[in-house]
Amino acid sequence: MRDLCRRFRDEYWRRIDRERTYPEEFVRALTGAGWLAALIPEAYGGSGLGITEASIILEEVNRSGGNSGACHAQMYTMGTLLRHGSEAQKRLYLPKIAHGELRLQAFGVTEPTTGSDTTKLKTTAVRQGDCYVVNGQKVFISRVQHSDLLLLLARTTSLNQVKKKGEGLSVFLVDLRDAIGHGLTVQPIDTMINHETNQLFFDNLEVPAENLIGEEGKGFRYILDGMNAERILIAAECIGDGYWFIERAAKYAKERIVNVEAANLMRFGAASLFDADRPCGAEANMAKLLAADASWEAANVALQTHGGFGFAAEYDIERKFRETRLYQVAPISTNLILSYVAEHVLGLPRSF
Ligand SMILES: Cc1cc2nc3c(=O)[nH]c(=O)nc-3n(C[C@H](O)[C@H](O)[C@H](O)COP(=O)(O)OP(=O)(O)OC[C@H]3O[C@@H](n4cnc5c(N)ncnc54)[C@H](O)[C@@H]3O)c2cc1C
Repeated sequence: MRDLCRRFRDEYWRRIDRERTYPEEFVRALTGAGWLAALIPEAYGGSGLGITEASIILEEVNRSGGNSGACHAQMYTMGTLLRHGSEAQKRLYLPKIAHGELRLQAFGVTEPTTGSDTTKLKTTAVRQGDCYVVNGQKVFISRVQHSDLLLLLARTTSLNQVKKKGEGLSVFLVDLRDAIGHGLTVQPIDTMINHETNQLFFDNLEVPAENLIGEEGKGFRYILDGMNAERILIAAECIGDGYWFIERAAKYAKERIVNVEAANLMRFGAASLFDADRPCGAEANMAKLLAADASWEAANVALQTHGGFGFAAEYDIERKFRETRLYQVAPISTNLILSYVAEHVLGLPRSF
C-alpha cells in the first residue's frame, strides 16, 4: 500500500482538490491492485481479509496524504451484500466488484428532513408485482457519479404499522446505470471539501424485486452492521490523518533549522566582519532579524506541535516561547531593523 500510495504524491492530491475532481487514477490503481477487494472472500474473487487489514489499507491512504473518502464506501457497503445478500446476488455482484468491473461506492441513507434520525426516513419502496416503486429524497449521497450501484435504505412498511421504529425498513441494490434518468435524478451539492456528494430525487423509480437484500423490513439492522464497519474504517482514516499531521509537524519543525541555519550563516558573517574591525551594521541587523524570525517561527510550530502540553510549564515550551518573543521587540524591534535595511542597504528614504 505504501508503495502504491507513494506514486500519488502531495502534488496529485493538491491538484485533485484544486480542480475539484475525483481521484480516478488513484482509485483505479487501488482497485487494480486488489486492495479495495480486501474484504471480499476469496471464493468471490477477493482476498478474504478482515476489517483490521482493511482499516490498515485505508489508514495508509490517509497517512500518505491521500483521501480515502473517494473510495472507502466500497469496502463497508459491500459488507451488507456479503452478510445479508442471497447466494445468487453474491455470485452476480461480488466477483465483478472485486475485479473492478462494477463499482459499489454509493450508499443512500441520509434524508434532508430526518438526518441522523434514520428510522424516521421518508423514502418509500412499495411492492408492485415484480418490482418495488421508490419515491422520496436523499441528501449528501456521495460518489454517485463514480459508482454503478447504490445501496439504498427505504421504508417498505409505514412507521405507524410497525412495533419498533427500526422495523419496516429495507435495503435495495439500485443499478444506477438504469435508474438515472428513469425515476432517479441526481443533483450535485457544492461543499467545502472536495467530496463529491449529491441530492437524489426518486420519482416512481422501479427497482426489480430481486434487488432486495435479505428480508423485507429488516434493512435497518443490515445497515447498522455496515455502519459499524464504516466507523472502524473511518476511524482508521482519521488515525492515518493523525499520523500524517504529526509527521508533517515534526518534519516542519525540524526544517525550521534551515531558517536557523540561514540566520546562523549571517551571524558568523557579521561576527567575522566585526572581528576584523570592518563595518557590519547591515549584516548584524540582518542576522538579528533572520534569527529572531526563525526562532519565533520555530516557537510557534513547537507550541502547536505540542498541543495543550505546549502550555504546561513542565515542557518548557511556553517559557521559551515567551522569552523568544521578546526578540521581535528588543533589543531592537524587527520594524526598526527593516527600516535600517531599507535606508542603509536598499537606499530608500528614511521612514521616521
Ligand atoms: C461530505 C458529506 C458526505 C456524505 N456522504 C454521505 C453518503 O454517501 N451517504 C449518506 O447516506 N449520507 C452521507 N452524508 C450524510 C451524513 O451522514 C450526515 O450529514 C450526518 O449523518 C449528519 O446528519 P445531518 O447532516 O442530517 O445532520 P442532523 O441529523 O440534522 O444533525 C445536525 C446536528 O444536530 C446534532 N444532533 C442530531 N441529532 C442529535 C441528537 N439526538 N442528540 C444530540 N445532537 C444531535 C448532530 O450531531 C449535528 O451536529 C454525508 C455528509 C457529508 C457532509
